[in-house]
Amino acid sequence: MGTPDDVVPLTRVMALHALAYCERLFYLEEVEEIRLANERVYEGRRVHLQDISEGIETLTYEMESERWGIRGKVDAVRYRDGSLVAYEHKKGKSNRRAAWPSDRLQVIAYCALLEEATGKTILEGRIRYHADNVTVRVPFDDAARRELRAAVARAAELRQHLERPPVTSDARLCRHCALAPICLPEEDRLAVMTVNAVPDEVEPEDAKVRRLFPERDERRILHITEPGTRVERSAEELVVEIPGRVPVRFPGKDVGAVILHGAVQITTQAIHYCAANDVAIHWLTGGGNVVGSFRGGTPGVQRRHRQYAAMSDPDFCLGLARRLAMAKVENQIRYVLRATRPTATEAGREPELEQHLTQMRHALAQISRATEPDEIRGYEGSAGQAYFAAFASLIRTSPGERGSPAGFEFVGRNRRPPRDRVNALLSFFYALVYKDCLAALIAVGLEPSFGFLHTPRSAAHPLALDLMELFRVPLADMPVVASINRKQWDATEDFVVTPHKVWLSLEGKRKAIALYEERKQESWQHPVLRYSLSYQRTIELEARLLEKEWTGAPGLFARMRLR
Ligand code: SF4
Repeated sequence: MGTPDDVVPLTRVMALHALAYCERLFYLEEVEEIRLANERVYEGRRVHLQDISEGIETLTYEMESERWGIRGKVDAVRYRDGSLVAYEHKKGKSNRRAAWPSDRLQVIAYCALLEEATGKTILEGRIRYHADNVTVRVPFDDAARRELRAAVARAAELRQHLERPPVTSDARLCRHCALAPICLPEEDRLAVMTVNAVPDEVEPEDAKVRRLFPERDERRILHITEPGTRVERSAEELVVEIPGRVPVRFPGKDVGAVILHGAVQITTQAIHYCAANDVAIHWLTGGGNVVGSFRGGTPGVQRRHRQYAAMSDPDFCLGLARRLAMAKVENQIRYVLRATRPTATEAGREPELEQHLTQMRHALAQISRATEPDEIRGYEGSAGQAYFAAFASLIRTSPGERGSPAGFEFVGRNRRPPRDRVNALLSFFYALVYKDCLAALIAVGLEPSFGFLHTPRSAAHPLALDLMELFRVPLADMPVVASINRKQWDATEDFVVTPHKVWLSLEGKRKAIALYEERKQESWQHPVLRYSLSYQRTIELEARLLEKEWTGAPGLFARMRLR
């Protein structure tokens, strides 16, 4: 991460390797400091010296050169014909017995560093490709020096920009790029191809997106609900100590997030470990409201500048708000239609339900024509009223039968505090959705305080509230209704009921969390990108697609729809 002294940092040789591979990769890694893949991108392709060190003289110290503006560490150095030669070892194959451009630039940079560090003339560097057993010699001559100078100058030029360079035109490079899940090059190409195109003129084959975004995050989410529990770090493990029980240990690399509900402690050492290992931490109140979230990583300076510039444009925000509100209302309509599809014995939907659907469709049409943000909010609110009026019809004792299971009658949405069991469940699930949306925005490096549909009216982050509009129906409303209809709740054991407030008991919370996490792992197919991924990954995907709205590849955010 940058320090105040790093005003004009020396460029890492590894970053030059990235520059020759793809300028956007250089920018992501070196300027935005997204180093997620460093180890995997480079170390995985490099042969570790321990494997091959016999008979090799090695220099393993860092070298740097103010004159060249670079720093790096040479793998191995040998004397050949009386001269020092810098060696770079690669696991992969050569480029038909020649060096790949990025490897060539890397070894040239090592030659330059070595020459300056030793004061001896360096004539060449060598790259050993172990997969096809080829050694390529790279002369360190005038042409090589010019190549290095041009690359360092280009790196300096790219640092001046706030915008990411475009995705590479060579899609094959992206398939081997470990930053593809962050860069989303295929989605970028699709957006650029379709943004001004007439839909019928886009060939389905051209609109096919190869999924470089992982379908699911295999890491587990630790929800700690037991009061008095303490989370500690022990070496590479996170240890959960529940009073009076044997501590439970989790390998840190298997944990994606730690969620602390209520009176639960976490040590500073565990927080440090989570920060360094991309493990998010969320603090929730006992009632499920988000108190705060934390994730380590880079501050996202460039990303935030780009976001502020975009969010300062009222027309841009209006367009996004309109699209998001339409997505929300369309999903509500689709869900009501799906959940109330008449059975063979029913003549049709109840007239009252049809009225609510008409009101929602009307609001949807108005949103599509709205020219003011308040108009959008107004019609979205009116659609919400109709949706929650229809919501009672979704809760049924059995298919085709009217009426809710005892204790789960729903007469309308109420909150702060919820006054019935259904609202208590909805509020708890929405808090979990909000927490995940906030975490995704932080992970992507966006500033959650700047939204485009929601305005700052409480401590809740407007952009997280915006993003969660896409997920209220699939991640909260649907599992809540389905679990009530399946009679998964115990009206007595799972809730604490007082005359003015209803909330979930500890047991109720555990059930809700299990249901929610299970739902997040379900896969679905994105209707535009046409690849499958879990809902959990979809939250991050939508946050990344949102960022693309102001980084040159707009049009894909908020296109997700229920089938
Ligand atoms: S995914 Fe492709 S465009 Fe993006 S940084 Fe990697 S190589 Fe470059």
